Amino acid sequence: TTRGTNMTKRILLASPRGYCAGVDRAVVAVEKALERYGAPVYVRKQIVHNKHVVEVLERRGAIFVDDTDEVPQGALVIFSAHGVAPSVHEAAKRRELRTIDATCPLVTKVHKEAIRFAADDYDILLIGHVGHEEVEGTAGEAPQNIHVVDGPGDVERVVVRDPNKVVWLSQTTLSVDETAATVERLRERFPRLQDPPSDDICYATQNRQNAVKKMARQSELVIVVGSSNSSNSVRLVEVALEYGARSAHRVDNASEIDDAWLDAVETVGLTSGASVPEVLVQDVIAYLVDHGFEHIEDVVAAEEDLLFSLPKELRRDLEENT
Ligand code: SF4
Repeated sequence: TTRGTNMTKRILLASPRGYCAGVDRAVVAVEKALERYGAPVYVRKQIVHNKHVVEVLERRGAIFVDDTDEVPQGALVIFSAHGVAPSVHEAAKRRELRTIDATCPLVTKVHKEAIRFAADDYDILLIGHVGHEEVEGTAGEAPQNIHVVDGPGDVERVVVRDPNKVVWLSQTTLSVDETAATVERLRERFPRLQDPPSDDICYATQNRQNAVKKMARQSELVIVVGSSNSSNSVRLVEVALEYGARSAHRVDNASEIDDAWLDAVETVGLTSGASVPEVLVQDVIAYLVDHGFEHIEDVVAAEEDLLFSLPKELRRDLEENT
């Protein structure tokens, strides 16, 4: 309904958005570990890249550490969804830590590809962001063979041993379009470049980007709920701008929205990264409804029903318990 004005303020709500199967599994793993073993449960790095999730788990007794040397000898430590290098497993073993590996199976898949190509002595060009935990973990599988390529601008400085034996792999949460551009540049330099056996950018990243592409042009403003260190959330802002949104902002929660962003805006596109609980999106919707955006339309790019079973170490203990 319109009230006294012909402006119909509306929200376009992206679907899918928020939690992916890998994040859900990792968060539930920490929750179940707290229930089964009691606090404290140590977690190496943020279990998923979301401030709210980490704070809630901290209140329940999870202790987040930067590395295994901060975990008391013999204690339980959970590895985050982003995966770890073999050296981390070894360090944990030396400290006699009990471990639960919550690495997303789709990250493990990329690790396995890296191991296989390294065994065949390929140079592996790993497209990804320098310093991101997932890239550090994957690169750690074969540090001698893997070169990290951080976007198209990084292609020129790549040096390989044999240009006929080169394969590219990628981080799971990149921009689909930018990665394609990086691969194109790499192929210009290395015409024999091999593709990975299957997509490394995961289904969740792709689906969330596709939903944003569908809504961007109709939205004067796109709001992405997600933390600043969440790669896939930051990509969603970039995709929104590339695909025609007049402005796009990432917020951790509704309190970070600036009222001025809404000036002269009729349509707000709303989505959230793969590590974001839906409650944070609902808070943003409540804020927007308060500001007159009363119509909500779903923009659906895909249906998702993937679920991963819990890490096997945990499953075994949970089954013994019943
Ligand atoms: Fe796994 Fe993709 Fe989710 Fe990362 S974003 S945890 S790779 S499903």
